[in-house]
Amino acid sequence: MKLSTKIRLFSSLFMLILVLLVNTAIYYMFHTMSLNGERAELTEQANEIVTALNDSPNIAKSDLLRAYLPTDGMIRVVGKDGNLLMSTLTKDWSYKDLPSSYSKKQTSRIIPLKDQANFLTVSKPIIWKNGEVATLQVYKQLVAHTETMETLFYVLMVASIIVLIPTIIAGSLLGRFILNPIKSLTSTMKENISSTNWKKINLENRSRDELYEMEKTFNVMIDYLKDNFEKQEIFVSDASHELKTPISIVKSYAQLLKRRGRENPELINESVQAIDSEADRMQKLVEQMLLLAKNQEQGAYSKLNIVQLAWATVDQFKGAYNRELIVETDSQDIYVNGNYDQLQQVIYILIDNALKYSDKSVNITLSQQPSEVQINVQDYGQGIPQEEMEKIFDRFYRMEKSRSRELGGTGLGLAIAKAIMEKHHGSLSVISNPGEGSTFSMMLPTINRN
Ligand code: ADP
Repeated sequence: MKLSTKIRLFSSLFMLILVLLVNTAIYYMFHTMSLNGERAELTEQANEIVTALNDSPNIAKSDLLRAYLPTDGMIRVVGKDGNLLMSTLTKDWSYKDLPSSYSKKQTSRIIPLKDQANFLTVSKPIIWKNGEVATLQVYKQLVAHTETMETLFYVLMVASIIVLIPTIIAGSLLGRFILNPIKSLTSTMKENISSTNWKKINLENRSRDELYEMEKTFNVMIDYLKDNFEKQEIFVSDASHELKTPISIVKSYAQLLKRRGRENPELINESVQAIDSEADRMQKLVEQMLLLAKNQEQGAYSKLNIVQLAWATVDQFKGAYNRELIVETDSQDIYVNGNYDQLQQVIYILIDNALKYSDKSVNITLSQQPSEVQINVQDYGQGIPQEEMEKIFDRFYRMEKSRSRELGGTGLGLAIAKAIMEKHHGSLSVISNPGEGSTFSMMLPTINRN
């Protein structure tokens, strides 16, 4: 079932039930009030008759009773054994079949009739001619009451219809109001699927409601997807471009060996060395690309002592390089919530770069800030010009391509480091003075020791 039909159906059904309940309540309240009024009036009349009978013992009772005969009614006097002590007084003889009853107490009841208005009867005990206790029964046909109730019934029916029509119209307007944005969202999505043109929804002149929020979020999502898609495209094209150079070097050496390898055995050594080093390069590139893809995901986080982690990383370098690495720290216990391997990777990349792009000592400083820890990796090397500072964090970006290549760089290290820091809600930045050196700063939120 369509959503618009559901909205219309639900709102109309809800209103119908509500109207029916309210109207039924009104009908029965009015019915009871009107009937009570009739009953009070008839009881009053019966009382008057009893008083008149008591006050005028000399007037023939049937004559006296005739004076009180209601237009749409009847008066009867019923004896103890149910027989009538006086002939029925009525203007309409069709009433004479109505049942009569003897009662010592004052009672009142409704006598229901088919196809005509019901009767109301009030019974009161009276002393009859021979001192016997008889029952005076006054009957009244509820003609006016029935007519009024009938009129009220039709009025309420018409009122219900009048209320229901605007409800149905409002239901379909509401359906349209809600569905239009959903329809436009669906059609925009379909368009985007069929043609990848990143179409967004036009939000001009729209009221700021929940549907507006939904469409706005959709537009933000489209921007995000477009951005990611373009980044992936650039990454794939950059990666294939980066792989092209070592592949063509390997290929040209292989062809050289094929053509002239047999006559010039000295070429074999040179070619095998070049092929081996290019294969190493390709391996490193592929490994780093995989690392970059892996670091887009959230690893397993745990509470870890970043000072110990920094020392462990520095120790790895101390064995491999004969360079001075100085570690300074405010405290031996600074705790962060993070992935051990990923954070070690960041410190590793920064120290590796500092060693690659400088010849002097490298300083690693850890300082505790109010809610963060700052880890600086400082070198005294060539530095980075101002205009390059943002670009060096881009994938495959290298300031001096050939120099970085010589040093075994891929241009992916800082991109990997930045992605890891962002995943850890931290940041990575650089301050540098060309000719004097660079300082890379990692900022990470800290957690309590316990
Ligand atoms: P690479 O594998 O080339 O080192 P990175 O992404 O780690 O790739 O670094 C990108 C570029 O930033 C490097 O090619 C280099 O030009 C520059 N760079 C990085 N670290 C330093 C540093 N400590 N000093 C000078 N330049 C640096």
